Amino acid sequence: MSTRHPQTQLIHPDYQPIDGFQSINPPVYKASTVFFRSVKAMRAHDWRQENSYGYGLDNTPTTLTLAHQIATLEGGAHALLCPSGLSALAVVNLALLKAGDEVLLPDNIYGPNRDMAAGLLAQYGISSRLYDPLQADQLQFSAQTKLLWLEAAGSITLEFPDLCGLIARAKAANVLCALDNTWGAGLAFNAFALGVDVSVHALTKYPSGGGDVLMGSIVTQNRDLHLTLKAAHRQLGIGVAANDVELVLRSLPTLALRYDAHDRSTQQLAEWLQQQPQVAQVLHPRLPHSAGHGYWQQVCGASGRAAGLLSVVLKCPERAQVDRFCDALRLFKIGYSWGGPVSLVMPYDLDTIRPQGADHIRHGGLGHSSLVRLAIGLEQVEDLQQDLAQALATLDMPTIDGSAIDDAN
Ligand SMILES: *Cc1c(COP(=O)(O)O)cnc(C)c1O
Repeated sequence: MSTRHPQTQLIHPDYQPIDGFQSINPPVYKASTVFFRSVKAMRAHDWRQENSYGYGLDNTPTTLTLAHQIATLEGGAHALLCPSGLSALAVVNLALLKAGDEVLLPDNIYGPNRDMAAGLLAQYGISSRLYDPLQADQLQFSAQTKLLWLEAAGSITLEFPDLCGLIARAKAANVLCALDNTWGAGLAFNAFALGVDVSVHALTKYPSGGGDVLMGSIVTQNRDLHLTLKAAHRQLGIGVAANDVELVLRSLPTLALRYDAHDRSTQQLAEWLQQQPQVAQVLHPRLPHSAGHGYWQQVCGASGRAAGLLSVVLKCPERAQVDRFCDALRLFKIGYSWGGPVSLVMPYDLDTIRPQGADHIRHGGLGHSSLVRLAIGLEQVEDLQQDLAQALATLDMPTIDGSAIDDAN
């Protein structure tokens, strides 16, 4: 494992160039069939061996280069690549759980992972329970509990969990800890130093950086655990396309610079939004009043990084006004995902995403929540602030029967 700083390592991948031709980016190898030198070599091939090639679905020099880079980035030893972040979450669930087992999920978990637990996992006899990620001492394990999912921070409501407390409780109960590390991206904190067993990363987000690739990774330190996951990965026929891998490899050298730029702009906008009269609350782990801010400080450092997501609760009684705010934004596009150059906005219904409730989140209006998640892109921050200001101004317009009086010009 490399001891270099991630920023340097991401620019200097460990790949062996062919003699006489060395370039910045590694070549793109494509294969379903891989030739063996002899029958003996074919028989000697062992999928458990790293750097051993048997079939394109398992490994190519291109996918191995990216896997090594991601493992190094996250402070782990082994990585598997999956065609999306969600498929990486699925491989972990299917590899580590069996009928009769129980999995624990934070109540602010990435929604599709919760849906998988309530859907496919339940169908296969695996039960699940939601827990409050801010209350480690209330975490309850049963004899059936085999896996604890962690997510830092929650990607919509942005509570930062008591990672150290939760991991300590899981270790004491001999329960595996899997972290959805998409937000931290291997840059905000070192998951393995904290004792996490498995780290899943939606490379779709910051590592791709372009908003045009879907990919996921599963990183481990323990080889036996890696092989358990790799066996499931093989049995499920999971693979990634070489051209997608190429795009992620090309983006990795700028990962840390982009992450810091997202982080800086988000801090500036979070602080500015807090002062706007139309805003009831800003959710962002760096803000002192944000839920789990102390845990964020503990793990990321008081002057650490806090990624590019923030949510705002708008002071408005009508859902139509929230929608109008989102529609009024010009630079912020309405869309899912994050980590690309373009800023994104998405309104969420708190009752749907947090069925157990979230008392620390204010209700901006009458009953229903008016939560809007902003993913801050790489545009000049002053332009983003101006865009937010003009969209917030639409909330001040008078309304008749809850519907806006449109500017008729
Ligand atoms: C986007 C995301 C995923 C899933 O990644 P996809 O590549 O879109 O499937 C998983 N977890 C978190 C926290 C995410 O934001």
